[in-house]
Amino acid sequence: MTKFLVDRMLGQTLKWLRLLGIDAEYAPEGKDEKLLELAEEEDRIIITRDKELGRKEDVILVEKAPPEDIIEKVLERFNVKLDPMTRCSKCNTPVEKIDKEEAKGEVPEGVYERNEEFWHCPGCDQYYWEGSHWEDISENIDNMLDDEIDMPEDENND
Ligand SMILES: [Zn+2]
Repeated sequence: MTKFLVDRMLGQTLKWLRLLGIDAEYAPEGKDEKLLELAEEEDRIIITRDKELGRKEDVILVEKAPPEDIIEKVLERFNVKLDPMTRCSKCNTPVEKIDKEEAKGEVPEGVYERNEEFWHCPGCDQYYWEGSHWEDISENIDNMLDDEIDMPEDENND
């Protein structure tokens, strides 16, 4: 499963990737070499808007675009399985499904009453429910989840 290292300018994209269950970490501050080293060490593909960095191998160069467009581009090139509600959008830790009672007192009362399914992040103690995740995810992403994604056989653009 492909993992990613995301440019600090692409915070929204990072959050959405995580919401879709994709392992994505923020690129550290510092020199490009440091970033490339980390990517190699952790076997991650870099997603960046930095043109210079974008010329390297295993780097996806993106333009300023809405997160769904960027994610679509990523999905076109890499075979990643989308698995929503499995990863914390704040810290990238896999979340755990919990019993409804465990969320009592931890989430707003109305939320507790309206929802049956809850998740908890052991990394940062964040609670999740379906509404918390999907409200800000556009229809485009929802459609992507329904579609079979065709993988191009040749990723070179001539
Ligand atoms: Zn977390």
